Order: sequence, then structure tokens, then C-alpha cells
Amino acid sequence: MDPALRELVWQRANGACEYCRLPQDLDVFPFQIDHIIAEKHHGPTTSENLCVSCFHCNVHKGSNIAGLDPVDGRIVRLFDPRIDIWREHFAWAGAEIIGLTSVARATIDVLGINLPERRDHRRLLMEAGSFRT
Ligand SMILES: [Zn+2]
Repeated sequence: MDPALRELVWQRANGACEYCRLPQDLDVFPFQIDHIIAEKHHGPTTSENLCVSCFHCNVHKGSNIAGLDPVDGRIVRLFDPRIDIWREHFAWAGAEIIGLTSVARATIDVLGINLPERRDHRRLLMEAGSFRT
């Protein structure tokens, strides 16, 4: 990947996962640059299709571009940090991230965003005052 493009993506993300909002400096696992539409599905390596993802979100997302809304079971696309506004789709309830839309609920499910160990990690960071939402 072009170093200038990589730098643009990192700067734009302000050091945090664009899915779960965890800052890189509060996680031991190196964050990665994610193709929002995976290369497998012919997603280009361009600014508009790239975002910063924490290790856990990225591993769970893999090449997925859609998921099932746990509320109604319908297939919906995943959250796209380039076209969607995070606060219009997600909200905080303590250390848990709530899906306000079908897109967000499917994303939380596919990316394992509220898995107990991940929620506990955020809770500990919040209690320590190092992670503010
Ligand atoms: Zn994440």
C-alpha cells in the first residue's frame, strides 16, 4: 500500500478503531487497515474503501460485507465508516455498544463487538479513566 495513503487513513481515524472506537494506545494488539468492501469482493485499495480497525474487529469481520440483524433476521450490509456516521448507528450503554439501526446491530454481531471479554476490557479502561466515549 502506498505510504501516503496509509498515513492518510491512520491520521483520519485519529488513532482509534472506526468500528468499536477503541484507541490503539489502549490495546496490545496492533490495529490494521481494513478494506471496508473486502478485496475478495473487488473492493479497491482507495481512501474511500479503507478504515482503521482494531485487531479484534478485523479478525471477526474478515471478508464479510453483510450480516443478519439479530432483531428481525434480515440480511443487511455492515457499517461503512466512510459513508455512515457512527453516532447515528451506535450508542454507548456503559461499556456496551448498542446498535440503533439494523446496520449497527448486524455489525456488532459479525464483528463480535460486545463479546464479554471485549466489553470487560472496555469497562476496565473506562473505570481506570483511560477510555472516554
Ligand atoms: Zn474495533
